[in-house]
Amino acid sequence: MKFDTVIIGGGLSGLICGIRLSQQGQRCVIISSGQSALHFSSGSFDLLNVLPDGTEVSNPLASIDELIRQAPEHPYAKLGKDKFLDMAFTAEQFFKGVNISLKGNAKQNHYRVTPMGLLKPTWLSTQGFASSNINESLPWKKVAIFNLIGFLDFYPQFIADEFLKLGTESDIHLFDLPDIEHLRRNPSELRSTNIARVLDKKISELAEILNAKSNGCDAIIFPACIGLESDALHKLEEAVEKPIFLIPTMPPSIVGIHTQQYLHDYFLKLGGVYMLGDSVKKADIEGNKVVRLYSYNHGDIPFTGKDVVLATGSYFSQGLIATSDRIYEPVFNLDVSYAPDRKEWYNTKIFESQGYQKFGVKTDRSFRGLLQGQAIDNLYVSGAILEGFNPIKEGCGAGVSILSALAIAESILSK
Ligand SMILES: Cc1cc2nc3c(=O)[nH]c(=O)nc-3n(C[C@H](O)[C@H](O)[C@H](O)COP(=O)(O)OP(=O)(O)OC[C@H]3O[C@@H](n4cnc5c(N)ncnc54)[C@H](O)[C@@H]3O)c2cc1C
Repeated sequence: MKFDTVIIGGGLSGLICGIRLSQQGQRCVIISSGQSALHFSSGSFDLLNVLPDGTEVSNPLASIDELIRQAPEHPYAKLGKDKFLDMAFTAEQFFKGVNISLKGNAKQNHYRVTPMGLLKPTWLSTQGFASSNINESLPWKKVAIFNLIGFLDFYPQFIADEFLKLGTESDIHLFDLPDIEHLRRNPSELRSTNIARVLDKKISELAEILNAKSNGCDAIIFPACIGLESDALHKLEEAVEKPIFLIPTMPPSIVGIHTQQYLHDYFLKLGGVYMLGDSVKKADIEGNKVVRLYSYNHGDIPFTGKDVVLATGSYFSQGLIATSDRIYEPVFNLDVSYAPDRKEWYNTKIFESQGYQKFGVKTDRSFRGLLQGQAIDNLYVSGAILEGFNPIKEGCGAGVSILSALAIAESILSK
C-alpha cells in the first residue's frame, strides 16, 4: 500500500500532521492501535505554564528564550525561537481553519477550572468551558452548580469550596432525569459517556430543570457530560436563560472524545485513510531510509511512503515501553534518552518532577529519529514520544504534540 506519508499513531499529533499534509494534497494513511490521550483530555491545550526551574509563565511567547536556555533538548528549543512563535500562531489558525472554536492565545495564558475547582493556566480552551482571565478571581458573583444524582465523577462541593476562596458563591443542585434511571442500576454505567448519550437527546427537559433552579445566579456550572453530538451544547446554551459553563469530569473525557472524532472525520473528508485498531510492528530500513512498514492486521503486505511520521505517544499509549532496566521504542528501536540508573527514573515525593517524564526518543533538530546516533532521512518523530520535556510539570503536553506535528508537516511539504 503506497502513500505519500505514513503516520503511525492517530492521537492529537498524528491527526494534526495528517490533516495538514492532506490539506496540501498529500495522500496519507494514519495507522492507529486505539485510544489516545485525547480520550482523557481536560478540554484545554497547554503550551507552556512553568519553566523547568519552576518559574511560572504567563506569556509563553515571551518566555521562549529562557526555556531554550534552560532546556536545550526541549522540542521547543529544537524548533528555535522564530519557529516556535510561528508554529504557535499557525496552530491557532489551524484550529480556526478546521472550525474548532477555542478560547485563548499564546501571548497570554488564561485559567481553566479543574475538576477540583482550582484554576490552572492553559493556552487554548474549548468554548463553553469555565475559565477566567486572571487567577485571583472568577467572572461570576454567584453560580448554580448542577450534578446528576449518583454521578460520582464530578464534585460540586469541592468546586463550591474553591470558588468561595475566589469570592464566588455557589448553590448546589442535584437533579434527576427518568431517562438516566437505567444507567443507575449499575454504578459503573453512570459514566460521562453514557450520560452524554442520554442528555444530548434531552435538551429541552434538561434546560427546564436548569432554568427552574438558577434564579439569582450569574451562571450555570454543569459537568462536562454533554456534547458527544456536535450541536448538543449549542442547543442547550440557546435553551437556558443564564450563561452555562462546563467543568471537566473524571475521565473518560467527552470533549476529548469529541475532538478526536472530529479531527478523524476531518482527515477522512480530506481523503485520508485511517486504520483504527491496527498496530505497526516493524520496519525495513535501507540506505538510511524507512522503505517498508508492517502492521499486525496486514501481515506481509507492507505500507510504503516517501516519509514516515512516528506519533505513537508516550508510555500511556505504548509509544515508549519501560521494563525493569530499560526504556525502548518498539517499532524502530530508535535511540531513547533515559537515565541508566533506575533510581533516577522516579522521585519518591510523588508530586515532584519524575525523571521518567522527560525520557523519550532522541531526534535531530528537524525531529528526525536517531538510530544508533544517525538520523533516518525520512522518519520524523512527533508529539508525546519526544525527549526533553516534562508535560506535567511544565504544562506543555498538547503544545509539544501540536507544534511538532505542524513543524514536521511543513518540513515534509517543503521537500
Ligand atoms: C491521560 C492524559 C491526559 C492528558 N491531558 C492533557 C490535557 O488535558 N491538556 C494538555 O495540554 N495535555 C494533556 N496531556 C498531554 C498529552 O500527551 C498531549 O496532550 C497529547 O494529546 C498527546 O498526543 P500524541 O498524539 O502525541 O500521543 P497520544 O495521544 O498518546 O496518541 C498516540 C497514538 O498512537 C497509537 N499507537 C501507539 N503505538 C502504535 C503502533 N505501534 N502502531 C499504531 N498506533 C500506535 C496509540 O494507540 C495512540 O492512539 C495528557 C496526557 C495524558 C497521558
